[in-house]
Amino acid sequence: MNLYSLLEASFPENRDSLCLEIPEDRDRTWGEIEIGTARMAQWLASLGLPLGSRVAAPIEKSPEGLMLYLASLRAGLVFLPLNTAYRDAELDYFFGNATPSVVVCPSKNLEWIRLIALANQVAHVVTLDEDGSGSLMTALAVFDGKFQTVEVSDDALACILYTSGTTGRSKGAMLSHGNLSSNARTLRQYWDWKSDDVLLHMLPIFHIHGLFVGVNGALLAGAKMIWLSKFDAKSAIRHLPKATLMMGVPTFYVRLLTESDFTQEVCRNIRLFISGSAPLLLETFLDFKKRTGHTILERYGMSETGMLASNPYHDRDGARFGGTVGKALPGVSIRITGEDGQPCKVGEIGLIEVKGPNIFKGYWQMPDKTKEEFTADGWFRTGDMGRLGGEAAGVQTPEDYVSIVGRGKDLIISGGFNVYPKEIEGFIDDISGVEESAVVGVPHPDFGEVSVAVVVVKVGTILDASEIQSFLKTKIANFKVPKKVVIVKELPRNTMGKVQKNLLREEFRGCFIVN
Ligand code: AMP
Repeated sequence: MNLYSLLEASFPENRDSLCLEIPEDRDRTWGEIEIGTARMAQWLASLGLPLGSRVAAPIEKSPEGLMLYLASLRAGLVFLPLNTAYRDAELDYFFGNATPSVVVCPSKNLEWIRLIALANQVAHVVTLDEDGSGSLMTALAVFDGKFQTVEVSDDALACILYTSGTTGRSKGAMLSHGNLSSNARTLRQYWDWKSDDVLLHMLPIFHIHGLFVGVNGALLAGAKMIWLSKFDAKSAIRHLPKATLMMGVPTFYVRLLTESDFTQEVCRNIRLFISGSAPLLLETFLDFKKRTGHTILERYGMSETGMLASNPYHDRDGARFGGTVGKALPGVSIRITGEDGQPCKVGEIGLIEVKGPNIFKGYWQMPDKTKEEFTADGWFRTGDMGRLGGEAAGVQTPEDYVSIVGRGKDLIISGGFNVYPKEIEGFIDDISGVEESAVVGVPHPDFGEVSVAVVVVKVGTILDASEIQSFLKTKIANFKVPKKVVIVKELPRNTMGKVQKNLLREEFRGCFIVN
């Protein structure tokens, strides 16, 4: 079934009601979304492209951008959302790899993006701006807004998401209509989405979090979204009282807590705060509860898989444990495997492997890479390290709760000993006066690799590197103590709030070796 048809079946009968509440009188009703989407689908169909052709969209967040996503689904084409922060070399790589037939970009970027598109034989380049103008919108004028959504099989591709690439070159994760539908259905049920929910939507829509978890979730519930172009703590505080649901990366929650007018009263109508895409610090989880009375629900997923695990919404499904990402979602299986390929015992750290109807179809044009990432018995290797059960944040968690302890590639092997950065970061973050930290491995002539801790200290605190090292020596085995501690103003993050450890590795790679 076409994902759009599934979503459309939940649109409210009253198509004049609001689907998107947008500041500055840019609201959109369900009817406007439906017709706007149909006209874009008519335009796409008029290009005579084979089903499955790619529509690449390095565009700003806008209601029309959302319609372009839905129109691509309706027309049986494959939507390829891209961050507008990407520059020449990145777009050249994406266009060369995905070979889109259509590129939609902001007018201000047309000049240089057109050249890259031309060099990659893209047949159609049109513009779409944040304010809803652009040559795409002009081209729609001749269409009447009546379009029969193309029927596709569950296996047909709906989207390609390039992984955010905090490590290595981006790979295009192929997601089918069936993958996205199954995940949206599961989340509707598990988080109890209802048509009277109002989602405060402040995430970008070029990423799984804002597009699939947020947008698909709200549309499938027939629920309204308050649609903000980006996150800003002050404007979030203004809009929160009208919302019942908020989704964010951990940084959103950290920033909200720095605002003195972020109070329980502001959150009076919220039934659920959801966090994901990067680890939520226990400190944030606890401070948030203290300030608002709300227990943030942390969940875990990735571009290749959609959502995999979630802390429960309903008490009947269990408690929410800080420091864990909850349990495998219904229909999803999660196992932890040791380096010998054998299942780990409860509490033991290993590789997180997953299975389910939400798991992607493979990496676009990379059959070998795809093969590498699946086990012989068909489980997808997430690349994340974790454990089931065991102790999280000083509490014994049930054996079906997953805790993530770091990326597989994040593992540092120092003199033959395994060092998990997440564990060391936990100890550093516990030091009074530390705001946050990131531990990375760098080459070392003797140990092969050693760890370097990059630490942000709270404003007004005086703490030096040697104090941190001395403290750690009293807490953890010597081989785990970072050989170098560096104090910085802030950690580099990508747009989804993930710490870019690759940049830190690069910056500090020469600390112990000559080149
Ligand atoms: P992306 O494909 O950009 O969404 O990145 C997926 C990766 O983000 C996962 O493989 C995890 O490493 C990380 N991630 C997502 N959610 C969480 C979470 N709640 N806690 C820790 N890491 C997370």
